[in-house]
Amino acid sequence: MLAQFLISLSLHKMELHSFSLQGQLSILQEKIDHLERLLAENNEIISNIRDSVINLSESVKDGQKNPEMLDVYDILPFDNPDGGVWKQGFDITYNENEWNSEPLQVFVVPHSHNDPGWLKTFDDYFRDQTQHILNNMVIKLQEDNRRKFMWSEISYFSKWWDGIDSQKKDAVKRLIKDGQFEIVTGGWVMPDEASSHYFALIDQLIEGHQWLEKNLGVKPKSGWAIDPFGHSPTMAYLLKRAGFSNMLIQRVHYSIKKHFATQKTLEFFWRQNWDLGSSTDILCHMMPFYSYDVPHTCGPDPKICCQFDFKRLPGGRVSCPWRVPPEAIHAGNVQHRAWMILDQYRKKSKLFRTKVLLAPLGDDFRYAESSEWDQQYQNYQKLFDYMNSRPEWHVKAQFGTLSDYFEALRKESNVNEKSSNSFFPVLSGDFFTYADRDHHYWSGYFTSRPFYKRLDRVLESYLRAAEILYSMALVQSSKSEKMSVFPSVDNYKLLTEARRNLGLFQHHDAITGTSKDWVVVDYGTRLFHSIMNLKKVLIDSAHILILKDKGAYNYDTSTPFLKMDDVQSSQDSLPRKTVIKLTSQPRYLLLYNPMDQERLSVVSVNVNSPRVKLLSPLGKPVAVQISAVWDGATTVSHEAYQISFVAHLPPLGLGVYQLLEVQSSEAVLADYNIYLRNSRQEKPDRLFKIKEMQNSVDNIILENSYMKLWFSGMSGLLEKINTKEDGKNHQMKVEFAWYGTTSNRDKSGAYLFLPDGDAKPYIFTDPPTIRVAHGRIFSEVVCFFHHVTHTMRLYKVQGQSLEVSNIVDIRGEYNRELAMRISSDINSQNRFYTDLNGYQPPCSCLYVCVPPFPSALLFD
Ligand SMILES: [Zn+2]
Repeated sequence: MLAQFLISLSLHKMELHSFSLQGQLSILQEKIDHLERLLAENNEIISNIRDSVINLSESVKDGQKNPEMLDVYDILPFDNPDGGVWKQGFDITYNENEWNSEPLQVFVVPHSHNDPGWLKTFDDYFRDQTQHILNNMVIKLQEDNRRKFMWSEISYFSKWWDGIDSQKKDAVKRLIKDGQFEIVTGGWVMPDEASSHYFALIDQLIEGHQWLEKNLGVKPKSGWAIDPFGHSPTMAYLLKRAGFSNMLIQRVHYSIKKHFATQKTLEFFWRQNWDLGSSTDILCHMMPFYSYDVPHTCGPDPKICCQFDFKRLPGGRVSCPWRVPPEAIHAGNVQHRAWMILDQYRKKSKLFRTKVLLAPLGDDFRYAESSEWDQQYQNYQKLFDYMNSRPEWHVKAQFGTLSDYFEALRKESNVNEKSSNSFFPVLSGDFFTYADRDHHYWSGYFTSRPFYKRLDRVLESYLRAAEILYSMALVQSSKSEKMSVFPSVDNYKLLTEARRNLGLFQHHDAITGTSKDWVVVDYGTRLFHSIMNLKKVLIDSAHILILKDKGAYNYDTSTPFLKMDDVQSSQDSLPRKTVIKLTSQPRYLLLYNPMDQERLSVVSVNVNSPRVKLLSPLGKPVAVQISAVWDGATTVSHEAYQISFVAHLPPLGLGVYQLLEVQSSEAVLADYNIYLRNSRQEKPDRLFKIKEMQNSVDNIILENSYMKLWFSGMSGLLEKINTKEDGKNHQMKVEFAWYGTTSNRDKSGAYLFLPDGDAKPYIFTDPPTIRVAHGRIFSEVVCFFHHVTHTMRLYKVQGQSLEVSNIVDIRGEYNRELAMRISSDINSQNRFYTDLNGYQPPCSCLYVCVPPFPSALLFD
């Protein structure tokens, strides 16, 4: 840029000379103006370059990379000493005079945590609790303009909004405008940050934000994540890119909280670890104590704080487990009670760098009843009024929203975007794996209900494909009258519903697998319906796009133009491949690549005849492997045959292949070796070459041009890999193992991983049946164990791809979980890296934790 501008400047100088000779003064004036503009631009470019050089040299001079969570993990002992009233912390003291020159500013922030499904379904929670909370909010905030409230889950908010009258809507808009009511985060849900993929994280954030923009004209600026089980920097990055300035997190390992409290680093700028500057910095507040409920948010002593949760007044349905109940505030006790809570506020403020204090006031599904609003807001107002009337207490207490707090914090610390890291520290890294106490590591949920975690990824891939194809079809359909019958409105509704169902499933009790069985069925049904609906959107959109003669377009719902190649019959069943019936007339097979990159991948479909011919989109014959479709481990079905081929598609491309039945096929059949321990002596198959290997224990070998694999002839499991490029052998031993759980009351479950020691080998009394296939496109070893069918497939096409899949059924087991272990000779020093949200490596982990790995696992 710079060079180009300089060159054009010198050219202009020459022109200037010749023009002046001709005396064309007005043109000259224009040229001079133009020159001045260019000069100004040049100056700006140079000054930008100078700034970035200064920034760079400063960071080089400091010789420091961003402080990393990795380093923190290295120095912490992860011991668990008793910290007194603040069990996981330490004794906090202060000096009475500390606030004399500058008073303590307390923001009590009322909130209600509404899970979109957990112990009840989304709809049941809405009916029983959430709608009442929001209805009362409108009434109770209008009673006193000092009252504040906030909300984060737009899935609930939008459902409520659709059912209220315009008067109520106007009142809500007024409350937002006056700053009494704030939308925080504003995603469709408060998403899980470990199991979720970034595609879905963005999707649910956009869904919420677009709803807010359209209906309320609101753009959230502060993030509120009090319940996700561990926190990912991906979320910090997405919030920053969505225009947020601030965020709050809560569920962080207690040892880290304690460490940050001692260092006063609970408030920090969270920076992405690839960021060499500060462009990804977002101000983050980490809540210091055990929970987001009232006992753990006013200060370090839950026994005291619980007495300031006025929903727990005697006679109510909830009480204080510390056995000292709250007292309603009146003239006779206000001095004592105000002093008690101020002492907690002061102690809590000692963990932070400023004299601005955040005191959240809420819990799960709070503020549902009108009386609860009165109990909390009236009693706290009395406490505030009393505190604020005592100048010698040096405190100003009030209700606030999250952004009220952050605004005051920024003002007090003089933080503006430019001098961000002068007052608060900068930190990079993640907060996994979460433990709330003892050895209660919340890594159980990384693998809970894997069936639905998979269904989530399937829906994501359909959603992406359908959104892109629909958009292209929409453009096509507007080009002619004939195509305007394309059901654009109906399909758009289906897309929106699918985005919302996917969004809902990102909730921290949904994709995590931590909700009740019937709630899981509710989520599963939503995912399942949306997958079916998206198939319809894909079919309708592809139809309009592949027609050569667009004039022939005719939309008829009763006879869909295309069919999908698999069918899932219910929310909890595995998909089945449809069998394509072949004739001598070609049948069309349409493939779509929803990626923005060219793709070469192996595609398999089932057909009813082995005498098959496949033609590419250009009409050329394509090499095909025909594999048997099996009924069980050893019986060939002759109802269907699987054909596999290498498909090559351009970015976002559609390819039309032709399939037909021919007299003599050039397709190559796979052949099979079946390793059996009991004699069977079946008669030979009429098509496939199947060799029975009675009692053979020789190694099984698979090979392509990149690698050679050795499998045990006994178990069928991988033992060794040779990489042909360097000729090296690597131990790569696959085993299955069982984890049991502790004999204590606390057991492994949906949330926790609490095993009874090391995993025990998976022992089989009868060696498994092993089926080995050799083919021109791929070869594979399939082992049939009692609880798992394990497949390792080696492709013979570009790339060194080895694919592992397991179909597990442990429904007959109790308090046991199955693990697949890979032991290698890589000297990783107990350290390995996994990705976060499919978006960024690394979430680095030591042996203390089992990290989430949504899509990748790496060793050094
Ligand atoms: Zn929750």
